[in-house]
Amino acid sequence: MGVCMAKDYYETLGIQRNASQEEITRAYKELAKKYHPDISKERGAEEKFKEVQHAYSVLGDGQKRRNYDQFGSEAERFSGFSGFNAGGFSNTEADFSDIFESFGFGRGFSDIFGAEFGGGRAGPRRGENMAVRLNLTFEEAAFGTKKEIELERIEECGNCHGSGARPGTSIETCRVCGGSGMERSTRRTFLGVIQTQSTCRKCRGSGETVSDPCPECSGKGNVHRRKKITISVPEGIDTGQQLRLKGQGNYGEKGAGRGDLIAIVYVEPHEIFRRDGTDIFMEAPLSFSEAALGAAIEVPTLKGKAKLRIPAGTQGGTIFKMTGKGVKAVDRNAYGDEYVKVLVRTPEKPSKRERELLEKLAEEEEVSRKRNSFFDRFKGMFG
Ligand SMILES: [Zn+2]
Ligand SMILES: [Zn+2]
Repeated sequence: MGVCMAKDYYETLGIQRNASQEEITRAYKELAKKYHPDISKERGAEEKFKEVQHAYSVLGDGQKRRNYDQFGSEAERFSGFSGFNAGGFSNTEADFSDIFESFGFGRGFSDIFGAEFGGGRAGPRRGENMAVRLNLTFEEAAFGTKKEIELERIEECGNCHGSGARPGTSIETCRVCGGSGMERSTRRTFLGVIQTQSTCRKCRGSGETVSDPCPECSGKGNVHRRKKITISVPEGIDTGQQLRLKGQGNYGEKGAGRGDLIAIVYVEPHEIFRRDGTDIFMEAPLSFSEAALGAAIEVPTLKGKAKLRIPAGTQGGTIFKMTGKGVKAVDRNAYGDEYVKVLVRTPEKPSKRERELLEKLAEEEEVSRKRNSFFDRFKGMFG
């Protein structure tokens, strides 16, 4: 569709990241006016205009702006930006028309962008997708879990069941479009008379209007509600992966279905384990004598303790692999490995007895003898 999504939208609109919604709208109006293809003689004005449009379609909408701030333009692929995938803007369309009407552009404006603006598309719209961040502990991600989250989403108004009409009152055929959901307008330009067909702004394409709006939702047919949702987290999920819950996003217009809920996973670090894909890594302290004499030590694994055999003469920093003790792959029945790096710890405050034994050991130690004779070979170098 030729919309550039990579640019920073705040930059595009020339505003600070903490700009108020009013500042955003003001900046948008100014730039839209400047680059409007009917007005601007500048080269590339239309491209620029589209970029400005697009930036405003995100930043001008509180929810989309929050998603963008949190996830960047990545968010557009899944959250509340369904307009692009579905072939038209969602509820921002009306806002654009309003702004342009106040400039005196009239409604002819929407035909410039055709399908992108949903011009000519009538009928109820599907609910928007939503993105949430799903924080999981290391164990929850490794083993899978059921996680309850709370979020605010758009629900059908229970009072009018989505119709927008006060219960007991009737729904009428839209008088503006005669029930077609489409609106025609003509305007005179130097090219002649241009006819534009666009979604009826009175009924927003539904073809129906209510005479007595539902008091609960002011005639919108939907309400914002906090909801608790349980998400099934599969075993082995990892940071950055997404879970898509079909039909758990926002409620759409009557009969059009809900959007999806996309949970973006973030796994918290663990005190002992570090994870890389399906493998896990940990460090285990080893005493000097364990390293020298060999030992069978107990180490934690994801499924309880396991014995790890340390051969005699193990050096600090050696890494041992425990096959199959890692995390399950999220998409297949395979497990990673656990790697244990041993760190040889010398006693910081040896007891009296330890001290005696160490002193005895020192007399016998081969390492220091070898070192001394090795360095002795270089005696001449140091004068
Ligand atoms: Zn209602
Ligand atoms: Zn209408």
